[in-house]
Amino acid sequence: MAEGTLFVMTGASGVGKGTLRKRLLEREKLFYSISMTTRPPRPGERHGVDYWFVSRERFLELVEAKKFLEHASYVNNLYGTPLDPVLRHLKRGEDVLLEIEVQGAKQVREKAEELGLDAVFIFIVPPSLTELRRRLLFRESQRGPDKLKEVAARIKRAEEEIKEALSGGGFDYVVINDVLEEATQELVTIVRAARLKRERRRDALERALERDPELEAELDEIERWLMQGGGTGN
Ligand code: 5GP
Repeated sequence: MAEGTLFVMTGASGVGKGTLRKRLLEREKLFYSISMTTRPPRPGERHGVDYWFVSRERFLELVEAKKFLEHASYVNNLYGTPLDPVLRHLKRGEDVLLEIEVQGAKQVREKAEELGLDAVFIFIVPPSLTELRRRLLFRESQRGPDKLKEVAARIKRAEEEIKEALSGGGFDYVVINDVLEEATQELVTIVRAARLKRERRRDALERALERDPELEAELDEIERWLMQGGGTGN
């Protein structure tokens, strides 16, 4: 049975992963893996659409039962990718998209090998750390010393992650989120390129070997006519 590709989008907080994910999903057919989290919903967020919102106890139960492909703690909350739906959709030959933070992506890299999954890792970066800082400072709705400390901590973490990516880091692609439309186009290109890989093109190769008997017969006739000097004006 055909197996789909697992696309893992990751990058620093504030880099615009969520926006890019939504734009990519509008343009390419991908199954978006809805994460589970212990953080409370923000206004407008819906259970089963944005996240599966669960209690910490429930989350830990599921960790214990090995129900996650990966899970990580982020700003005092837990986040995880439920394993079963991801595997189910990949098995059906559908492509799956994860949008997760960097620690989780590392776990997926290890598991993907173990589980024999075809995974593509995409690292989203800001144009610069200064630009990321500007975005984070403007994004924080509640100001105050604590929030500002959190921004500083996130910048520091982003810096470490980018340095790690620079020295390998296991990413297949790097997308700079400067001009939103350009970054979206680049993601679309990555998805389409992965779909054109030979391992996924068995159908196309098999089809390319096919011959149409009727058309072949016609071509035989034309070939005979050409052999007899047809079409040369003689
Ligand atoms: P937020 O709370 O702002 O929705 O998400 C915080 C961070 O958690 C973001 O960087 C987001 O990409 C990441 N995240 C969302 N779902 C998951 C998940 O299932 N696993 C991991 N490791 N990170 C996640």
